[in-house]
Amino acid sequence: MPRAAAPTLASPSPPISPSLPSRTASSSRVPRAADSDRRRTSASVVLRSVLEHGPVARSTIARLTGLSPASVTDYCARFAELGLIHEESVPRRSNGVGRPHVPVDVDSSRFVVAGVHVALSYTTVALLDLRGRVVARRELAHEHTDPGWVLARAAEGLRALLDRAPGRRALGVGVAVGGWVDRESGTVVEHQMLGWRDVPVRDVLRTRTGLPVHVDGHARALVNAERLFGPARGSGSLLHLFVGNVVDAAFATNDEVHHGPRSQAGAIAHLPVPGGTEACDCGRTGCLQAELSERTLCRRAREAGVVVGTNPMHVIAAAAGGDPDAVRLLVQRATAVGRAARLLLDVLNPETVVVTEVGVINREDCLAALREGVGAERAASVVPTSFPDSVLAVAGGSVALDVLYRDPLAASPQAT
Ligand SMILES: [Zn+2]
Repeated sequence: MPRAAAPTLASPSPPISPSLPSRTASSSRVPRAADSDRRRTSASVVLRSVLEHGPVARSTIARLTGLSPASVTDYCARFAELGLIHEESVPRRSNGVGRPHVPVDVDSSRFVVAGVHVALSYTTVALLDLRGRVVARRELAHEHTDPGWVLARAAEGLRALLDRAPGRRALGVGVAVGGWVDRESGTVVEHQMLGWRDVPVRDVLRTRTGLPVHVDGHARALVNAERLFGPARGSGSLLHLFVGNVVDAAFATNDEVHHGPRSQAGAIAHLPVPGGTEACDCGRTGCLQAELSERTLCRRAREAGVVVGTNPMHVIAAAAGGDPDAVRLLVQRATAVGRAARLLLDVLNPETVVVTEVGVINREDCLAALREGVGAERAASVVPTSFPDSVLAVAGGSVALDVLYRDPLAASPQAT
């Protein structure tokens, strides 16, 4: 794939290490595919271990991962050269005895990833450090949803954030969008509410930013964020259910997010809800997305005289102010989300279900209603998002961070 010659978003600093020394004595040997797969997997496991346990001794990483201490030392040296990890300045002794060791940790000061999340009425642009923490963000209101206009504004917004973050270098851009997104081709295949069809998001943003761009559906982006940075990491299987204006889900087992052909897995928007009454854009009545979307919540809240307008946070504010209709609508919605989660639990049986929904994030009674909808026996496995204040900012960046942590040597500055 040819690199775009467009102006780069990153500050024009030279690559950290333009020509890393070859790792093996027999550098003329052409590595077999199995070798490179194994190296990629080992590199990923080591960097994930540093992320999860850092600051941590290399000997501990070796013990945790089952890799040889020499191999762990090798990978850590490589990551340190690339600026992905650093050594703590003061050596430590376990219990004050034994040989001192120098712990390593993820270096969250040098690199960032840029994130873009496209919602219906606004786009969120953000910078995340390598620990998935939001360093900076902006929300860009949509005057309209023409894809060229939205993506041009997103690129401008990222450039502005990077200009104000001197000393930080962007490794790449992650984009999360609802609807049907094909990660392989970096295309939004279809997003009905935005009116997008076959939009080549990756190519457009790569040309505009000069950075590597990765695109994924936002439910999968968020399942990756939880898997990498949330308390549920280490769960053998994880389901993420997103209920905004778009309703979708994503499922990961043993660190693999299920995509299915053309990344269509998790398209649950049009599952029928028993007793549903809302007309859906697809022509049927009672689809999950039509019943549960924020648009529907806000319309019902307007009809009940709770709010004017279309901002679900105004319904939350009314409920916080004691409006019983606002409370009723939010609790009803959370119960319905719980029933949807129960259906998905029956089919997929994940260890943990993470729910992103505005009521569940903000109110204990909604979380209780969600768990009631799921049913008592599995209520404890259902938790709200780990990113209550930054879920959309985290979504985009997580797409790029997932790529980094899966294949750290390829996603490193050397490769960009
Ligand atoms: Zn429908």
